[in-house]
Amino acid sequence: MSARRPAPPLPEPLAPLVDAHTHLDACGAGDAASVAEMVDRAAGVGVGRVVTVADDLAAARWAVDAAHWDDRVYAAVALHPTRANALDDVARAELEKLAADPRVVAVGETGLDYYWPGKLDGCADIETQVEGFRWHIDLAKRIGKPLMIHNREADHDLLTVLLDEGAPETVIFHCFSSDANMALSCVAEGYILSFSGTASFKNAHELREAVKVVPDAQLLVETDAPYLTPHPYRGAPNEPYCLPYTVRAVAELRAQDPVELAEISTANARRVYGLTA
Ligand SMILES: [Zn+2]
Ligand SMILES: [Zn+2]
Repeated sequence: MSARRPAPPLPEPLAPLVDAHTHLDACGAGDAASVAEMVDRAAGVGVGRVVTVADDLAAARWAVDAAHWDDRVYAAVALHPTRANALDDVARAELEKLAADPRVVAVGETGLDYYWPGKLDGCADIETQVEGFRWHIDLAKRIGKPLMIHNREADHDLLTVLLDEGAPETVIFHCFSSDANMALSCVAEGYILSFSGTASFKNAHELREAVKVVPDAQLLVETDAPYLTPHPYRGAPNEPYCLPYTVRAVAELRAQDPVELAEISTANARRVYGLTA
């Protein structure tokens, strides 16, 4: 990418909202002050809580720190499927410790990514990803926390491994990007579907059909910032404050009042993550 587009303007506030999956570190936050500044910006438009998600060990340590610095921030820790080849005994021991922290509300993001192997240097192969996914499923069950799934072009194998291993009580498909059939399969298993800015992309026809078939009680909203900035700011840097754009787009697809959807998705986030504040 050449010169980045400028940051999107602040949306009209929409409250209450919880950003169910974001990466504050990748958005540029470093110390406690920069975390507070980013969450202040989000809170100013109604996004009062965020779950910041790790994709490697350093990010996992940072996410737990950030969640202790600011009580509006919660953490999720795991090794991203593309990094599952780093899941040695030392990494497993540290992740177990981090995941048990009371500020950690989910094990994620884990799952399967069939897009990057062969394209990305050092990407874990599929067999290694499956093994890592199984380990994270087991961890989530042992500590009684939700499993947060990353799925890229792996619908069939994901459902198969979950059924084979035995899914934890709460399974969240972050940045759900599949079609209505996959959505209905997930709904039937009781899984939670979290929608990101991709649901606002006009050319995401199959995903936009999926958005319509999810029952209220099984839906979350997220930014996955700094990626996947919602329409009409695609390609610009994303941050938790951009969540209202996505929620309004999802509400329109579901023919729902945005405020009602904000309340429903926030009640769901509080329930599935067990948010106390
Ligand atoms: Zn992901
Ligand atoms: Zn993510």
